[in-house]
Amino acid sequence: MIYLDSHATTPVDRRVLDAMLPYFTEHFGNASSRNHAYGWQASKAVERAREQVAALINVRFRDVIFTSGATESNNLAIKGLAARAPDNRRHIVTVATEHRAVLDSCRAVERQGFRVTRLGVDACGRLDLQQLAESISDDTLLVSVMSGNNEIGVLHPLGEVARIAHARGALVHCDAVQSVGLLPLDARALEIDLVSLSAHKVYGPKGIGALYVGRTTSPLGPLDLAPLIDGGGHERGYRSGTLNVPGIVGFGKAAELCRESAATEAPRIGALRDRLWSSLSRTLEGMRVNGPLDGRLPQNLNVRIEGVHGEMLLKGVASDLAVSSGAACATASAEPSHVLLALGLDEEAARASIRFGLSRFTTEDEIDAAATKVTAVVQQLRAGRAAAVSSQRGI
Ligand SMILES: *Cc1c(COP(=O)(O)O)cnc(C)c1O
Repeated sequence: MIYLDSHATTPVDRRVLDAMLPYFTEHFGNASSRNHAYGWQASKAVERAREQVAALINVRFRDVIFTSGATESNNLAIKGLAARAPDNRRHIVTVATEHRAVLDSCRAVERQGFRVTRLGVDACGRLDLQQLAESISDDTLLVSVMSGNNEIGVLHPLGEVARIAHARGALVHCDAVQSVGLLPLDARALEIDLVSLSAHKVYGPKGIGALYVGRTTSPLGPLDLAPLIDGGGHERGYRSGTLNVPGIVGFGKAAELCRESAATEAPRIGALRDRLWSSLSRTLEGMRVNGPLDGRLPQNLNVRIEGVHGEMLLKGVASDLAVSSGAACATASAEPSHVLLALGLDEEAARASIRFGLSRFTTEDEIDAAATKVTAVVQQLRAGRAAAVSSQRGI
């Protein structure tokens, strides 16, 4: 079985698991216990992990808050900021191709009376910066733009986005889940105010994430968020609840491993992705890449295969290959992907698309085997279709 669905999740790296294990049994203390060594030890491990995660995006460790994952981080960034917004800042700008956790959080604050602008993208998924600038007004609170798209891999120019937003006094949030494992993100240099991260997309455990909350003083005053979860005031009051110490330790280790390996891993994985595309496009007709050829996450390939239903293809390869359709949670009856529709694809083209996500553990042999399998199943499906058409015509 070949796993090529790393945008959905990644396996926990062995070294991450080894770092976590003692914190389940031996060092099981509550990081908030102030009166004994169990608590001190857990707290020390959490603070070390906070430094490791902060280093991944070059921010101060004190500004990183641990959450249950990027879904929560996105909710906290958008809803938490909206709840503390001044009356004259009730507009949010985002992009039609963002992750559901961003789009649905925006929808929620819209129901509370906020205006939300959802920017369209070009046929490759790219933002128009001119249009972005025009969409921002004096009442814009926040601009939320992801770093790399989880379906089509397109990268957005975050530095420019931040410059444009800040010029009008708006804050910037970035869902950086998909890019940080392989591509550098210097949130401090780019002056991004809020960054969402998730451990399980970078070879850490599921159920742990982070939100960077910058201390940039904007025309709005110091950045402040209303918590989604009230309680003992953990995580500077932004996120109460006993800390998931093993998860946090694993996230820290995963972040450190990514930081150490990104410079060699990004070109290696990018080259494997290019190899997959060239072998598919060489052997099969009617293949198109969804998203740009350049300016793309190294681990991402999303292709549309003319005349082939994506679900049929996925079913055909399922015994050997774990890949997914463009749609994040697709079943035969599910809506086609909102990201692919935003590129201007019609439903049929969106449904003819599949997404490959490569990982740290992907090998050249796996890529070659995957290409062979996909090619064989596509040819089979096309032959079946041709035969069906012929028999309809009575040939
Ligand atoms: C997976 C993903 C999320 C959600 O992260 P969880 O930690 O699973 O909640 C958010 N944004 C993007 C871009 C993702 O790929």
